[in-house]
Amino acid sequence: MQQTFSCRTLFPAILILMTLSSSAQDLLKSQPPLWSAKPGIAAFEKIENDRLAVAQHTIDQILAVKGARTIDNTLGPYDEAIRQLNAASYFSTLMQQVHPDAAFRDHATAMTTKVSSAQTALSLNRDVYRALASLDISKTDPATRYYIQRQLLEFRLAGVDKDDSTRAKLKTLQDRLTDDQSRFDRNISDDPKSVAVTDASELDGLPQDYIDKHKPGTDGKIHVTTNYPDLFPVLKFANSDGLRRSLWEAFVTRAYAKNREVLRDMMQTRYEIATLLGYSSWADYNAADKMIGNGHNIGEFIEQLDSVSRPLAKREFSMVLAEKQKTKPEAVEVAAYESYRFSELVRRATYDFDSQTVRPYLPYRQVKQGIMDTAAKLFQVSFHQELNAPAWDPSVETWDVIENAKTTGRFYLDMHPRPGKYSHAQMAPVLDGIRGKQLPEAILVCNFAEPTETDPGLMEYGDVVTFFHEFGHLMHHILGGQQQWAGISGISMEADFGEAPSQMLEEWMRSPQVLASFAHHYKTGEPIPADLVARMNRASAFGRAGTVAFQNSLSAISYDVYKDKPESVDLDAIPPRDFQRYTLFISIPAEAHMYASFNHLAGYSSAYYTYMWDKVIAEDFFQQFDQKNLLAGDAPLRYRRLVLEPGGSMSANDLVKNFLGRPQSMAAFQKWMGEEFESVPQTNTVSGK
Ligand SMILES: [Zn+2]
Repeated sequence: MQQTFSCRTLFPAILILMTLSSSAQDLLKSQPPLWSAKPGIAAFEKIENDRLAVAQHTIDQILAVKGARTIDNTLGPYDEAIRQLNAASYFSTLMQQVHPDAAFRDHATAMTTKVSSAQTALSLNRDVYRALASLDISKTDPATRYYIQRQLLEFRLAGVDKDDSTRAKLKTLQDRLTDDQSRFDRNISDDPKSVAVTDASELDGLPQDYIDKHKPGTDGKIHVTTNYPDLFPVLKFANSDGLRRSLWEAFVTRAYAKNREVLRDMMQTRYEIATLLGYSSWADYNAADKMIGNGHNIGEFIEQLDSVSRPLAKREFSMVLAEKQKTKPEAVEVAAYESYRFSELVRRATYDFDSQTVRPYLPYRQVKQGIMDTAAKLFQVSFHQELNAPAWDPSVETWDVIENAKTTGRFYLDMHPRPGKYSHAQMAPVLDGIRGKQLPEAILVCNFAEPTETDPGLMEYGDVVTFFHEFGHLMHHILGGQQQWAGISGISMEADFGEAPSQMLEEWMRSPQVLASFAHHYKTGEPIPADLVARMNRASAFGRAGTVAFQNSLSAISYDVYKDKPESVDLDAIPPRDFQRYTLFISIPAEAHMYASFNHLAGYSSAYYTYMWDKVIAEDFFQQFDQKNLLAGDAPLRYRRLVLEPGGSMSANDLVKNFLGRPQSMAAFQKWMGEEFESVPQTNTVSGK
């Protein structure tokens, strides 16, 4: 990597930058914001169909080449097809998640299926595979070589070297899978459950602003939904066990039983795909193009994580149980839904910390500004809002990313809940960046409570961390979006590296310095006191090992759903068994159906381990920064250059090694998990699991 900075390459680099900067401005002009044309359904479909047509045209070009194949006449049009198909896919997927009109969402869902079908057709196009395989890559630059080699692997994983009937079968299966994935997600977002509360005293213990927002409806009842801003405060603060439990039961049974059949169908389809391609399970097949390599390694990683987290999880559990015993002396067990409340009480009692005391420092608008300012300093860019850019909802904002007075990317913020909208928090690419040709664009789709004239929208601290996490994905896509090719741009590297940079950024929200720069009391303007942050950090460290254990149980569920022949899998038995095996909390009967709303079983499938795998890498990364002043030294720029900017132009295992000087280890992660016990002597823990 050092040679990038050597004098020999400096001069051409400057030339490229100069070419870039003039064209970057032209790019911005030629690339209006996503919703500029305010498309209705027909116009939306035309945009999409036009992209599909261009993609088909460039594929025809590849196949029409007479004579010698070159990067220009073969990889060039291939990458153009990728660019068009990705853009079409990003747009339709986004619209099915965020468009306010259900009919539009239906058309978008159908379009996603159509685009995905075209992507699958390309991935199974044997003539295109042969064309790419015949390219002489001996003289190409490393990024181009890596791109071609990785595409050839993906082609083989798609079955391109199989006979005609197998390929036709694979295409049918892929189309079916895409359709099922969309249905699985839609069934979840179309089934927002709620609990009707008849007695207002059920809300006792909740913050006043929450109670103010939950007045009885015309039926005289208070409706509390399973949306995150409604759900988590109840789990943590409501005194009423009845309300906490019934809301949790509603939450874990969303989309049940509808999604049971959809999931069974996905499992069967995936198993058939994997076995047609010579793998014994979907988990094995799905791991073949990832850092982790194969299904067996997923199982190993889950066990390894279990052994490093269990001793700390036990220490935490004994404290949670003791808290429950204060009101129920005979208790010997704690249910998962109860753990939110009792952990919160431990934080208050043991660490002198009440998370409510932080919220007044976290009004939404200030947080948003603070997160963007922090990212701007860390990545040495600035942001400029495009006012009056039209969007599908008036609350959506459009921003440019500026570097050296030049626009290098654009992003959108769609941050508040609406009926029918995707109900989690995520970043999604909107366009892949191509140096000199297309600015990278991305969007955050979140569900934070919207501030109003009278309500500043005070955020939970955890939501602030989520916000920065998603912003980390966004910056990764944009900073990695200056590649020569769409197919290696942004977050296109191995999928199980994707959460590492964003999880690394979560740690920044624990720095007293960083927080004090924007977390100012919404009434007094006083910056958040350093001792409050210190107490919060210690308190928020409490529960980490338990959370890791819980996440590990979800990884196990995701692996167990896909590691065997579907007919030998008893779906309803998996969640209780894996909760029991990897967490210390007891499972309640409704949780047997949680797979129906576990949306990652559609997209991530067997790769949910990614979150913890990347958490290990993230903590290792974070320790490379100056812990007293995160922005000091060369770590921020080295990180940007070595980890984010390469996008998908090399293996993520190399990105890790280039920045750390070695492969990742679990040491930093272990330290992070047990931080609340640092310099606290170990007391006796409960025996048992
Ligand atoms: Zn993420």
